[in-house]
Amino acid sequence: MNDLAHPPPPLSNAPASPAGDPATALLRRVFGHDSFRGQQAEIVTHVSGGGDALVLMPTGGGKSLCYQIPSLLRPGVGVVVSPLIALMADQVAAMRQAGVRAAYLNSSLDATQARQVEQAVTRGELDLLYVAPERLATSRCLDLLDRTRVALFAIDEAHCVSQWGHDFRPEYLQLSVLHERFPDVPRVALTATADPQTRLEIVERLALEGARTFVSSFDRPNIRYAIVDKADARGQLLRFIRGEHAGESGIVYCLSRRKVDETAQWLLGQGVRALPYHAGLDATTRTGHQERFQREDGIVVVATIAFGMGIDKPDVRFVAHLDLPKSIEGYYQETGRAGRDGLPADAWMAYGLSDVVQQRRMIDESEASDTFKRVSRAKLDALLGLCETAGCRRVRLLAYFGEQGEACGNCDNCLEPPETWDATEPVRKALSAIYRTGQRFGTAYLINVLRGKTDERTTRWGHDRLGVFGIGADIDDTTWRGVFRQVVALGFADVDHESHGALRLTEASRPVLRGETRVELRRQVRATRHGSSSAHAVSPDLSPEDNERFERLKAWRLAEARRQGVPPYVIFHDRTLAAIAAAAPGSLAGLAGIPGIGERKLERYGLDLLDVIGHET
Ligand code: ADP
Ligand code: ZN
Repeated sequence: MNDLAHPPPPLSNAPASPAGDPATALLRRVFGHDSFRGQQAEIVTHVSGGGDALVLMPTGGGKSLCYQIPSLLRPGVGVVVSPLIALMADQVAAMRQAGVRAAYLNSSLDATQARQVEQAVTRGELDLLYVAPERLATSRCLDLLDRTRVALFAIDEAHCVSQWGHDFRPEYLQLSVLHERFPDVPRVALTATADPQTRLEIVERLALEGARTFVSSFDRPNIRYAIVDKADARGQLLRFIRGEHAGESGIVYCLSRRKVDETAQWLLGQGVRALPYHAGLDATTRTGHQERFQREDGIVVVATIAFGMGIDKPDVRFVAHLDLPKSIEGYYQETGRAGRDGLPADAWMAYGLSDVVQQRRMIDESEASDTFKRVSRAKLDALLGLCETAGCRRVRLLAYFGEQGEACGNCDNCLEPPETWDATEPVRKALSAIYRTGQRFGTAYLINVLRGKTDERTTRWGHDRLGVFGIGADIDDTTWRGVFRQVVALGFADVDHESHGALRLTEASRPVLRGETRVELRRQVRATRHGSSSAHAVSPDLSPEDNERFERLKAWRLAEARRQGVPPYVIFHDRTLAAIAAAAPGSLAGLAGIPGIGERKLERYGLDLLDVIGHET
């Protein structure tokens, strides 16, 4: 809320405790956190000292503090540029809950409201100002800032300057003006996009050559990765949701709008509170669904990738893919929306041959340049490698971003190592079957030939007289489907879209056919469950009694959030409520020690909280 009529008083910069540096003191007092994470402290020191910075940190890594604290430490207002207009109100509300004097300027304000904010800026009454990029570039706004002491510029979602990325915002290109017009104001650009290409573009387009770059590990240790063989995808999804995430918030990604609608409808029929989201819905419905997702507990949004950047809900407990994304970058970005609060979360995907075929077709049939198609194919292949690997998913994922790691113990392959088998002979048989039948048939038919099933077509084409007919009778259908999927994923064959999914051999098949290469494949897994859910629960340590308190606290939070018109997590995160429930402190001093309770929240909610946990029922 831009509630300028009731601004919180300015926070003093005096450290809460005599010991420690001012940044840590603010961290404790305002945000209620004990210590900085990872590179936060270094970044805060660098930016507070007036340095420019490029911050690459995964989603949930804690980028916000990297500009919020320097804004509070430096004189003047910190100006935060963000394309996420829909989120600004919530971000500002969260800051104000912590006692930070924050406001925003974007197109959702009318002229009077905007003028009020501008006046507050001029009077030096704000610590943080969130601004939409197109707004910032106007001469009105730049003039306003000319007359104002600016603590720093934070350019959030900085990858939006990249013309190659799917989040490109032309308005971001105008942000280079900041450097020219305010050469003495430090700038910090932040993004969760990991690839080096984008990094270079950010530096170049935002004139950040002199900035110090801070690259964090892109690992998200709390996210458990699992990729299952697609069978009855919907049923698998439902079992996954019911088994592991009943009543929790999640996102299900599908490729097409139609599939989004159908899946949402179906889930709803199964008792899952699902809402569709895609660009084909009218704006009101879309916003409404996004809002409910942000503000209510336990909504599952079924969406195309149009549902993306505007989400910073911290307690998304799972992201499921019913269709394959285009690249590892896409997969990483989408799955990254789970578990921003650091609590356990799942990234789950069902994957099958049809996905490979569909994605390859989309590339082949697109109007893009040959170079673009080549890059797209390579990106898809890298993702297929991730899907087919029998090794640790996380190791593979991080390796793609240039990081090395060890088997994580928190992915499907680590938890239940898949069997691999020497599939050289079956693969050769599959490839011969493709070749001998004239490279004109799809998987289902080829499996019939290999298994020696006679039908009208085998007879008509004389395929029952081929040497390959029946040479694979010892292998069942499911295993054959897995073999064909992997043959295509590994690039030994490709799919001809013109002729109904016929498989054709590629150059890469030659060494296999000649017996020069050994092929090791994953065995198909039928039981697709992993891990025990109890070890993976959000609050594993809560006793039934604690849990009862936790539920009461959540109910109180929801009521409070409704009353104030803000999302519940703006008031307290789950993690904080769980800690309160477990510690059950009997005094304000006891509450103050709990992570996530800063000075202002203690003042405002402390007695209520004590009251809520005091009533044992
Ligand atoms: P990002 O913008 O990088 O996705 P956020 O800034 O939203 O991440 O932070 C993610 C979560 O981590 C938030 O819930 C935030 O409160 C928490 N967080 C960030 N820094 C710290 C810290 N030093 N100690 C404890 N929690 C932190
Ligand atoms: Zn692993």
